[in-house]
Amino acid sequence: MQRRAFLLATGAALVARPSYAEECGFEICRTEAEWRELLSENEYMVLREEETERPNTSPLNEEKRMGTYHCRGCELPVYSADAKYDSGTGWPSFYESLPSAIGTKEDRKFVFQVRTEVHCRRCGGHFGHIFDDGPQPTGERHCLNGLSLIFVPAA
Ligand SMILES: [Zn+2]
Repeated sequence: MQRRAFLLATGAALVARPSYAEECGFEICRTEAEWRELLSENEYMVLREEETERPNTSPLNEEKRMGTYHCRGCELPVYSADAKYDSGTGWPSFYESLPSAIGTKEDRKFVFQVRTEVHCRRCGGHFGHIFDDGPQPTGERHCLNGLSLIFVPAA
């Protein structure tokens, strides 16, 4: 009886890690403590709790160089500077993401408006929202938090 209990406990420990990864639903899964270690307090609030940074606070608003924007949570390249434009909103804005870089979901936090939430395909980190008042060729405005991104200038 004792041995059986021991085997069950061991089995549970062995599957704990993979099942945790499946539960998170993304390729990269970290515990809350691991995310807090990796991110600043403000980055954590935006990426992990879907808060929005105050407008006109990100230095990336003024970033005009060629290069690539990476996810702050996992460093996946997610947006090209080619698709960046000045939306006048006070948040870094893009008309499209890089291919297979993002995921979206419905955000019903505002009672009278259903918004499209956008996050990192690989780690699930929250980036911002997508609106349909952007420029051509897509007509999309990916309104992002600068805190969610790392800019890497082209070499
Ligand atoms: Zn990521």
